[in-house]
Amino acid sequence: MSPALRELWQREPILKVRHLQKNFGTHMVLRDIDFTVHQGEVVCVIGASGSGKSTLLRCINRLESPSGGEIYYHGELAGGDGFDWNRYRAKVGMVFQSFNLFANQTVLENCMAGPRYVLKKGKQESRELALRYLYKVGMVPYIDAKPAQLSGGQLQRVAIARALAMKPDVLLFDEPTSALDPEMVGEVLGVMKQLAHEGMTMVVVTHEMEFAREVSDRTVFMLDGFIAEDDTPEVIFGNPRNPKTREFLSRFM
Ligand code: ADP
Ligand code: MG
Repeated sequence: MSPALRELWQREPILKVRHLQKNFGTHMVLRDIDFTVHQGEVVCVIGASGSGKSTLLRCINRLESPSGGEIYYHGELAGGDGFDWNRYRAKVGMVFQSFNLFANQTVLENCMAGPRYVLKKGKQESRELALRYLYKVGMVPYIDAKPAQLSGGQLQRVAIARALAMKPDVLLFDEPTSALDPEMVGEVLGVMKQLAHEGMTMVVVTHEMEFAREVSDRTVFMLDGFIAEDDTPEVIFGNPRNPKTREFLSRFM
């Protein structure tokens, strides 16, 4: 283990996933997932379509309920006695491939809604939070625009600002650039890179191998509902131990 990774792993785990399973009917989509995310870590998750990457994120933020296993949040069992689901959902943010903004609200309203209605902050404070993060993603000039007026890259930057306005402990990204025209991928990856450098804890499902290689502290390769390999990007991209990782990556070379 590299010194940098060792240092990260001595930090507090924000999320610990143990023996996570998910079935859809008889289809076992997640088999036995062990997965830990430490404070300040950027974990990229790669793997073929259908390998269970989205389901893993959706089980972590409880858009799906797992069929088995446990999730610990700051050491506390999710769903255990006295566990606060509302706080958990607020603190584990998600950015989707398809943006999921409210079409009938402006950019600013989209970003204010979470602080105002979930965190129960006042209007002024919600507005300030929204503006702070819209500034960070370069979208202040568009605060009065409706989603239909924006490009895909702009929509995704708003979606990131909206997630950040909740001041999450960890942000989950599910293929945030897959729905974008190629010329817009860079602006979104640029924002994500900046967040990573600022110490944001992130789990990023992506097919952007350059991003994973350059930005992640760890890269996880999923195969048929298993984590086939979980290591530094140097190992995953340079000298993977699992031949299946090598085979998968050869498609991108
Ligand atoms: P990935 O994100 O890696 O492409 P997914 O997690 O979306 O993979 O899907 C993994 C498998 O689970 C796929 O075979 C998919 O068809 C199946 N699956 C995902 N969601 C559902 C669902 N809601 N109902 C039934 N099957 C599902
Ligand atoms: Mg997916």
